[in-house]
Amino acid sequence: MSDTPKILLRGDEIENLREIDVYVDNGGYEGFKKALQMGSDGVINEVKAANLRGRGGAGFPTGVKWSFIPKDEPVKYVAVNADESETGTFKDRLIMETNPHQLIEGALICAYAIKATAVYIYLRGEFWDVAHELDKRIAEAREAGYLGENILDSGWSCEMYTHLGAGAYICGEESALLNSLEGYLGQPRVRPPFPANKGGGLYKEPTVVNNVETLSNVPWIIVNGADEYKKIGTDQSTGTKLFCVSGHVKNPGVYELPFNTTFRELLFDVCGGPRKEGTSFKAMLPSGGSGPIVPLTDEVLDSPMTYEDTAKLETIIGSASLIIMDDTVDITWVASKVIKFFRHESCGKCTPCREGTYWLDKVVDRIMAGEGRERDIQLIDNVAKNMQGLTLCALADFAANPIIHTIRHFPDDFMQHVKSDEELAAAGD
Ligand code: NAD
Repeated sequence: MSDTPKILLRGDEIENLREIDVYVDNGGYEGFKKALQMGSDGVINEVKAANLRGRGGAGFPTGVKWSFIPKDEPVKYVAVNADESETGTFKDRLIMETNPHQLIEGALICAYAIKATAVYIYLRGEFWDVAHELDKRIAEAREAGYLGENILDSGWSCEMYTHLGAGAYICGEESALLNSLEGYLGQPRVRPPFPANKGGGLYKEPTVVNNVETLSNVPWIIVNGADEYKKIGTDQSTGTKLFCVSGHVKNPGVYELPFNTTFRELLFDVCGGPRKEGTSFKAMLPSGGSGPIVPLTDEVLDSPMTYEDTAKLETIIGSASLIIMDDTVDITWVASKVIKFFRHESCGKCTPCREGTYWLDKVVDRIMAGEGRERDIQLIDNVAKNMQGLTLCALADFAANPIIHTIRHFPDDFMQHVKSDEELAAAGD
């Protein structure tokens, strides 16, 4: 683990790395200059060969996404997803605060690869201070000749802008993000057409939407090559990942580790184990509220934190925002908080999500108030299962997860809150 090069947090010990001169003195913009020599296809092929997968959560192959952009369209865009709305996720903010030029350079390489005319960095409304800082750094890049007309005599011109949202979770979903950028209500669009396709992107033009962490890998890949990148992690999950750990561990924080690290290594060796003496780990939300909750058994702890291995555990690594709970936690209480969050954040466009989150929240509230009955558990399980796969975006699936998986893995936590029919009959209810 200690031999793995830092890719995303490299140079985090260097003072003032945020400033362009310091960044350039430490190898900054070498990847961009090399990309201009490689040409668009060379860059896309290198990123494809590296098997860099989308770090927003879905893990879609980045180079493949770039290759979907039609070459003959005159107007194309890059939209950087800096909304970072997933609960427990705080990695993109760290990159933008500590090494903003790494993101700007990665976004520029992507823009050059698809010959985009503009890059929009979409940040959640609460990140106004980060946007202000990025604006300064974008101005530095323009001053240095990396943005604007005929960049470094390449014949290619591109601009870069930040855009602040208003703090809605749904605007982290790529098509809602594009709607919001265009000034419309932040609600998802029908996909296909996907953003990369004509008709599906920003102002209907082909658009690459990539997460901050995804793009921040790109300069390293271009400088060091796909083969070096693939030496880290596993075949299907290459490179390093930023893991955000919060909850009941001794040392919460953001850690950059290769993908094949196990949950046990992260939670015990890096994060110091359970926060309080006499407690043990009980459960984990591995991808914030959107990832199915899992019990922290030995099997889970010994699993590598890869896309493929977490799928075997019937969960996801997603954005790798691990919320850790010890054995003092009632998982029904966790489920009640997560469903309240999704009820609040549902944009209301799709009926199964709008109505489903409302009813799940209402019945779980009843259960938490001690007024639930045993068959309420079946009822919410049924409602949750009928929300999945029926909506324009994945929010309904995410909202259903805490209910379905808490009932599956922690039935006793639910049972302790409800009354059986016999008890209710005895109480005359
Ligand atoms: P998705 O699998 O539908 O799409 C992933 C990406 O691949 C998208 O950019 C999509 O446009 C592209 N894509 C897929 N098929 C394509 C095709 N045939 N042609 C062209 N492009 C194609 O996933 P999603 O709904 O975009 O994202 C879900 C993920 O988001 C979840 O895994 C969740 O963990 C994560 N998430 C992250 C945050 C965060 O703050 N980072 C917040 C909420 C959810």
